[in-house]
Amino acid sequence: KEIVMSGIRPTGFLHLGNYFGALRNFVRMQEEYNCFFMVADLHALTTLPDTKDLKTNITRVLAEHLACGLDPNKCALYCQSHVYETSELYLYLNMIAMVGVLEKTTTFKDKIRLQPGNINAGLLTYPVLQAADILLHRAKLVPVGKDQEQHLEMARDYVNRFNHRYGGEVFPEPFAFNYGSELIKVPSLDGAGKMSKSENQYATLYLSDPDDQIRKKVMKAKTDSGPTEPNTPKPDYIENIFLLMKLVSAPDVIKKFEEDYNACTIRYGDMKKQLAEDMVRFIAPIREKAEAIQQDTDYLKKVMIQGAEKARASAQATMQLTREAIGLNYY
Ligand code: ATP
Repeated sequence: KEIVMSGIRPTGFLHLGNYFGALRNFVRMQEEYNCFFMVADLHALTTLPDTKDLKTNITRVLAEHLACGLDPNKCALYCQSHVYETSELYLYLNMIAMVGVLEKTTTFKDKIRLQPGNINAGLLTYPVLQAADILLHRAKLVPVGKDQEQHLEMARDYVNRFNHRYGGEVFPEPFAFNYGSELIKVPSLDGAGKMSKSENQYATLYLSDPDDQIRKKVMKAKTDSGPTEPNTPKPDYIENIFLLMKLVSAPDVIKKFEEDYNACTIRYGDMKKQLAEDMVRFIAPIREKAEAIQQDTDYLKKVMIQGAEKARASAQATMQLTREAIGLNYY
């Protein structure tokens, strides 16, 4: 079976982008592949100097993974910091990662704009740690959203440089994956950028949002007075509303609004009301399930221990090969 690996940072509640970019694929992939999915708590340390909420966030994110349909018996579901081998591989990969390339990474440039007072080296080497997470299981498929494409390219670069420098062909090249080919970017409701855990909170739909909050956010989404000429191209923010509808609404409903748009008879108020109700129908069952699972701390602990055992067994085998390839096996 092909090996799959991906992770989500416990930087806040999960949102629709995490679901459609990552989790939806996880749930399907666990049936077909050998899957490793982690809550990326070490990654969270690059942006969260204050760790007092980390434990709550981890249990919440884990509960949300389970509520979306991940089964700890079908995949390894674990916490990144429980797999100590990650830090070792991260160190080795740091020796082949070029600072110049890391400094030009889009996510690094974005993050330093957001936290000018805390430009730590971990932020710079975030793609190296991410490559370590993936390579640790020698994974080939990485289900992620579009924002992660550049990081995967860097991971492939590290694989080629590692294999070239040390030989051993320890790691295969990993590729970003989405069922249905194109990687997904779920846009934020204000038409600017993507939905995100830690930014644009009023323009992001969280899997934990109460029904009324969902309705309020959707109704505030940016629109205009409507097209004045038939069959005109849609502005980005309108295209985004159609895109969100495609995620949760029935095809005939979308078709009707497309026709109304092209005939210049569309009423955005009605469209948003429909979208809000479809979002509520989609999000509410996940929210309720996640809330219940989060209360069951014994179960969550069991899941974490079981996941860490599976992930460490895979990691230890890889590290053995890695040390041998580098030449660190002295006796
Ligand atoms: P943060 O705001 O803390 O940076 P995030 O919401 O961007 O967090 P990550 O933990 O960095 O989420 O990413 C987890 C997964 O969710 C990744 O696979 C990422 O590609 C995917 N993802 C995040 N946001 C979106 C989005 N808006 N559309 C599609 N996929 C997304």
